[in-house]
Amino acid sequence: PREDKLFDTTIHRRQTRAVKVGSVTIGGNNPVVVQSMINEDTLDIDGSVAGIRRLHEIGCEIVRVTVPSMAHARALAEIKQKLADTYQPVPLVADVHHNGMKIALEVAKHVDKVRINPGLYVFEKPKGDRTEYSQTEFEEIGAKIKETLEPLVISLRDQGKAMRIGVNHGSLAERMLFTYGDTPEGMVESALEFIRICESLDFKNLIISLKASRVPVMLSAYRLMVKKMDELGMSYPLHLGVTEAGDGEYGRIKSTAGIGTLLAEGIGDTIRVSLTEAPEKEIPVCYSILQALGLRKTMVEYVACPSCGRTLFNLEEVLHKVREATKHLTGLDIAVMGCIVNGPGEMADADYGYVGRQPGFISLYRGREEIRKVPEAEGVEQLIQLIKDDGKWVDP
Ligand code: SF4
Repeated sequence: PREDKLFDTTIHRRQTRAVKVGSVTIGGNNPVVVQSMINEDTLDIDGSVAGIRRLHEIGCEIVRVTVPSMAHARALAEIKQKLADTYQPVPLVADVHHNGMKIALEVAKHVDKVRINPGLYVFEKPKGDRTEYSQTEFEEIGAKIKETLEPLVISLRDQGKAMRIGVNHGSLAERMLFTYGDTPEGMVESALEFIRICESLDFKNLIISLKASRVPVMLSAYRLMVKKMDELGMSYPLHLGVTEAGDGEYGRIKSTAGIGTLLAEGIGDTIRVSLTEAPEKEIPVCYSILQALGLRKTMVEYVACPSCGRTLFNLEEVLHKVREATKHLTGLDIAVMGCIVNGPGEMADADYGYVGRQPGFISLYRGREEIRKVPEAEGVEQLIQLIKDDGKWVDP
């Protein structure tokens, strides 16, 4: 037999348990969910409602908010109500900190998922000059964490809501650092400690993240987590992200390198691209990563040759024109190729092709079939006509 894996062109996602977050489900057989976070102050009710709505309308399926105080937590009740009254219920997740368990309990009433960071549950004795923690100390601290976390876990469990155990490489607890070092192993052990606490309280609506700002660290942490979970018979869904990825082209590439690599290995059930830009900018990046990997198809897939000496028209300009005219059509693949010599063969089975035929003329293709030759000036218009003739056009 042929080496099947080598010839496999689909991504096989790791099987995970399905965890409901409001009307959205993460894991199971569901598409990879896209998330982001508003940067409005939660006390600004109208601003927050508008920010959440803006993100949701462009495809952010779960929106995160921060709740640094009790007033913020209460404000979420109003935000939730206003969204339901003026728009629609949007799945919400709130960040809470260990010293705000009262806040957490309040916020758990209003949001669909609560995110906690295990590294912020600091119950360690002052460091002094010690460099290690004994097993007993480890267990004592674990017991204190459980005691603190228990009311929140029970509240979420009883309401059928979810929790994200969100470990950050940059904020590991001291005893994890002393025991495992500043390593992916320390990150995974932090997550496992909290998972075990939740499981001991019969709560399994968990989503796990192990973010780092260095891509190789993040990759290793998630892979190690998957290995450990497999060994332990756990199948919690994973939330992928590269923290502090920065902005611009490099921020996007760095996020894609981390998130895309894991998704290609079948790892990951929900993603957030963290950019130092307006949150609206993160959403198209998420969808582009998912589309490029064939995991979700939410826009037209453009195939275009890089152009060369054979190119018969201004490829960059034509691609831009074709994109502008057709970008609202979801689910189609459209190719723009510079010449007839290699173009048709390299269109990657696109649904339609716009191919340089001879100077001043282009050919339109449906699949591999050449349909008509038209003057270049009418190219885009005729392409639209062909799509219309096939009944695949919708007005923007
Ligand atoms: Fe060059 Fe034609 Fe290939 Fe485009 S399709 S890169 S024009 S040979």
